[in-house]
Amino acid sequence: MTDHRIGQFLQVITIVVIATSGLALGILKSGLDYTKIIKQPTPKNAKFQNAVPAPAKNLIVEVPQTWQGQTIYHAQLKPNQKVIALTFDDGPNPKHTVQILDILKKNHVKATFFVVGAMMQTYPQIAKQVVAEGHELGNHTWNHSYRRMDRPTAASEIDRTGDIIYQNTGVKTALFRPPGGYLNNGLADYAKNQKYVVMMWSSLCGDADRHTPQVAGMVNNVLRTAKPGAIVLLHDGGGNRSRTVKALPQIIAGLKAKGYKFVTGSELLEIQAKEQATTIKAVPAVKKDGKSQ
Ligand SMILES: [Zn+2]
Repeated sequence: MTDHRIGQFLQVITIVVIATSGLALGILKSGLDYTKIIKQPTPKNAKFQNAVPAPAKNLIVEVPQTWQGQTIYHAQLKPNQKVIALTFDDGPNPKHTVQILDILKKNHVKATFFVVGAMMQTYPQIAKQVVAEGHELGNHTWNHSYRRMDRPTAASEIDRTGDIIYQNTGVKTALFRPPGGYLNNGLADYAKNQKYVVMMWSSLCGDADRHTPQVAGMVNNVLRTAKPGAIVLLHDGGGNRSRTVKALPQIIAGLKAKGYKFVTGSELLEIQAKEQATTIKAVPAVKKDGKSQ
């Protein structure tokens, strides 16, 4: 070994030693903090607790077990349970998704975006922004095809999209929406098999119709069909969505005026699951007078 080589070798060793001790100290330090959190939950340690960020709720889009593998059009809620879910399909789109996100942020509304894998590959940053701003993502296949497909093709459409959603944003979603709402071309069957909830809709603004209505027509379509537990279909991609962008503030204002609060897809399913659980509990098998119902 030449002197020069030995010098290089020693440099490498030094770097390795420094890096290893740094790492060891880091582990030790975080280990100590962890112990403090567990053993002394006093206000003094509040700063340590705050230092451990809770995982963002919308990163794991879980659904109640009762809904896994099911299809939902809307939640069946009481007339006074005024919650509604806005959903946006076919993005991410560099123009319209961003405009929609701004409107949602201004109005403190959280929504659900059913993304197309191929669009996600092209615009990963937009999808990251959707998640960073607290919205949920759902799977809307890779190619957005309506045709009938065999199981491997359906699997590829859905799995590839689930994978790219996870790789780009860290989100694991259990929500699926079939393109065009087609339930019999193999996609929905595969999705249900994978325990996705197939999320359809009960209210649509008509922005993807062949003859897109004017803004006032879109607003009216949603407000007319709004009901507690409704799922509203809108589009942030798949065409020129400038009318949707114009209609959205009025849709939100109209729904708020009717007393609605906005929830994401998985929140709606949770509310529905709780509602069903309490309904079941609330119905006694035997009445107080002893007669069975
Ligand atoms: Zn679509």
